[in-house]
Amino acid sequence: MVNCLLCNRSLTKRLTVSEIIFPGPIRKQVVCNACFQKFIRYSGTNACQGCGREDKNKLCTDCQRWQQQYGWHLSHRPIFHYNQAMREFMQQYKFQGQYHLRAVFQQSLQVVISQMDYDLLVPIPVTNHTMKTRGFNQVTGLLENIQYTELIKHREKQKVAQSKKDRQSRLKTKQQFFLDRNITLQGLRIVLVDDIYTTGRTLYHAAELCYQNGCKRVQSLSLAR
Ligand SMILES: [Zn+2]
Ligand SMILES: [Zn+2]
Repeated sequence: MVNCLLCNRSLTKRLTVSEIIFPGPIRKQVVCNACFQKFIRYSGTNACQGCGREDKNKLCTDCQRWQQQYGWHLSHRPIFHYNQAMREFMQQYKFQGQYHLRAVFQQSLQVVISQMDYDLLVPIPVTNHTMKTRGFNQVTGLLENIQYTELIKHREKQKVAQSKKDRQSRLKTKQQFFLDRNITLQGLRIVLVDDIYTTGRTLYHAAELCYQNGCKRVQSLSLAR
């Protein structure tokens, strides 16, 4: 018997007539519909072309600021809204270290990524400290069935966890990443993946590094925003 990963109710479901007549690949269900409905997808309509949030402008004021600072802006795609359900999910998955919960959104990411055009899929890394204390990178956990390249690494010295800093000090921090391997990114199209888009600071650092190493185009994706 399989139970919902979030509420633990049984997932046994009756097959529909068409599933009996046309047995296709069975979609692996890991959470019940009631739980999954609490996560709200971005529709993509009226979205900021930078960060994907719903905004009346083509480019929201935050993204206009990035555009001014870098001379380019990321084209970011968030999948779900960072609402109460997502906050609770992140709390359990990331901060309480319930690694088995990575399965909840693997399929959602897989579907979105399969529609994107890129050469390398690059997850945002966690710091060595987080790796030691949490024991896993919550981003690569979400990408389990997808090919990705761990290309960038955290510079050491970062003492305060991103989530503990306020918005202003997060925006000001210096480049936090370096390229993990000596490879040329000349002409490549990269998609960066993170779990949550907050201010964009982390993804802009990673994107800047990619562009400095010759990337042709950098886009990004996050589970939530
Ligand atoms: Zn459930
Ligand atoms: Zn924006």
